[in-house]
Amino acid sequence: MITFLSELWSIGAQNKHTSLRRQIALSNQIGMLGAVATLPYQVFYLIYDIGFYWAVFSANLVFITAYLSVVICNAMGRHSLARDLALGVACTQVFVVTLLISSAAGVQLFYFSVGAFLALIYSNMNSRRFWVQSAGIGALFIISQFLFTPARALTPVPSPFVDIMFGGSVLGVLALSAVISYLYRREIEQAELELKLNNRKLTTLSVTDTLTGLANRRKLDETLLREWERTRRNGLPLSFIMCDVDHFKIYNDNLGHQAGDVCLQQVASALQEALVRPGDLVARYGGEEFAIVLPDTNALGAHQVAETLRQAVGAMRIPHVPEEGVAFLSISLGVTTVERPGPDELPEILLKKADEALYMAKANGRDQVVYLALTDQPLPA
Ligand code: GH3
Ligand code: MG
Ligand code: MG
Repeated sequence: MITFLSELWSIGAQNKHTSLRRQIALSNQIGMLGAVATLPYQVFYLIYDIGFYWAVFSANLVFITAYLSVVICNAMGRHSLARDLALGVACTQVFVVTLLISSAAGVQLFYFSVGAFLALIYSNMNSRRFWVQSAGIGALFIISQFLFTPARALTPVPSPFVDIMFGGSVLGVLALSAVISYLYRREIEQAELELKLNNRKLTTLSVTDTLTGLANRRKLDETLLREWERTRRNGLPLSFIMCDVDHFKIYNDNLGHQAGDVCLQQVASALQEALVRPGDLVARYGGEEFAIVLPDTNALGAHQVAETLRQAVGAMRIPHVPEEGVAFLSISLGVTTVERPGPDELPEILLKKADEALYMAKANGRDQVVYLALTDQPLPA
């Protein structure tokens, strides 16, 4: 039911920005609720004495038609006209009906509902238009409340029906207030949900490398620090791999930067797919360098993972530049492990040591893995 109604008052609001969408929905709501709220009064005039009440009955028919035209205007894209029409019809109807049947029927109380809609319909409360219209609604209420007495009414409603009608008007105003509050709670919930989703998207974007889709440097730093602290607490080893594409400048210079970018994406996918543990993290460190964090992994295990990564990239057999003496694309990797971080040590020492190991791998001829212990211990056999 609510879904059906919200579809109904979203007529013309598709693909609009938030504040216009709200304005369109609100004017449609005034149109539909105004038409519906008029119906019980019409039933009374019709059954009780249509001959006597023909003027107010006919006027209401015009107002109902005008209310429905609000929705048509929105559907046709005339949103400002729809908004002004909705407010104009509501104010005029309350005025004319009170003039005809007197303030004793309480119809003028609907100015409170119109005022509430007005406050919601304007996104800018500082606009002069808003304050002029608010003052206008206040003035109309005072005039109809105090000047349109039963003695002056052209077609007053007799007792006890006037009291029943007054009660109906009060109920109508209260029901409209409840509807407005409910609708706005839904709007707020919707807005909060959108905000949450956007925040999540932004958070993901802020830790993602745009070229490769891998984690970026920021995510790497966060993860490394978190794992470093975890290792400090639980005493489990933490390994780190620094990895660099070999002779990538030659690749770029000969095959072009775009081909280089595609190649980096292929390497990134190969690294990502070769890692099996969900806790492992591969990040783009910068340029053609990647970093891998391996929690709960000792030196031997890290060396094996690095070797797997090297083979995974080699297995793609990406043609390099044979004329320059490089047949296929390869990577070099530097590995290190921390078993128990010292009290004053920071994770940067892992980066430094892995970089040192990588430098040795390059110096030894590339396309290989070199392990360096943080302290001067050799790789356990
Ligand atoms: P080495 O084997 O010693 O690592 O040699 P190298 O040529 O790979 O290393 P060097 O640091 O001299 O060059 C790295 C090159 O990587 C420089 C640049 O052309 C390329 N590069 C860095 N970032 C990007 C990138 O985002 N896209 C592309 N296409 N190329 C990049
Ligand atoms: Mg490099
Ligand atoms: Mg390189």
